[in-house]
Amino acid sequence: MPYSITTDYHVDPAVPWALQLRRMRAAGFDRIHWCWDWNANVVYGEAGLARVRDLLTEADLALADTHGAIAGEAREYSVDPAQRAAGLALHRDRLAFTAALGGDVVVLHPPEGRGEELEAATERMVAACLELVPTVRQTGVRLAIENIWPSERNRLVIARLLSAFEPDIMGFCLDSGHANVAGDLDWLIDYAFDRLLAVHLHDNDGSGDQHLLPGDGTVPWDKLTSALRDAGYAKVRNLELSMSARYGGDEEAFLGEAMVRAERLVGCG
Ligand SMILES: [Zn+2]
Repeated sequence: MPYSITTDYHVDPAVPWALQLRRMRAAGFDRIHWCWDWNANVVYGEAGLARVRDLLTEADLALADTHGAIAGEAREYSVDPAQRAAGLALHRDRLAFTAALGGDVVVLHPPEGRGEELEAATERMVAACLELVPTVRQTGVRLAIENIWPSERNRLVIARLLSAFEPDIMGFCLDSGHANVAGDLDWLIDYAFDRLLAVHLHDNDGSGDQHLLPGDGTVPWDKLTSALRDAGYAKVRNLELSMSARYGGDEEAFLGEAMVRAERLVGCG
């Protein structure tokens, strides 16, 4: 059972990416979920892509998939035309980036807000994703909407997006920590696991998004891994962790323990 790791687990931005990637590989991860720059308004283009390709080649790592960008004011679902255009430009770039590096999915977060405001933003997001469809078809990289919290936000946004697009365009990314905060894992399993394209696996105590190692919180791993198996989820299982103060400053030890937890708790249930 291969595992991947979301790249932005380190809380110290001074540690070079090349060194971190080598450490991920040494710990036994052979793929990554690219999440660096997820909140930076950076369009990679050809030059950025070439730099990242060199980094991955040097570390002997492959790209599984990519986190979409929620950067500054860039929001594809914004009412503001400039913000909307910036959000679309970022996601066209991430789709091309992912395709060029051999990945298959770009993960999107739901719009913010609640009630009528959220409904309107969700409709704008549907319209924005429609504009991304030609790039999705051209690259063969699909979009996946990620669950967040509260549960009402998931029910509205995930239901709308999964019904608005065919499975060859839009699927679902399960975030186990977000589901534990929202308390809606059962609904997500029932409603969205047949559209599962990616996973963000991490733990928390239910009080907030803590990105703990599996087993350090209250996520029901047996239930979750059984549901992944029942859904026929065969893709790499991705950890989305934070090397927070409770884990100390030894990155190699942290990654080694992450692999131990992955094999113990998030393999085939
Ligand atoms: Zn996530």
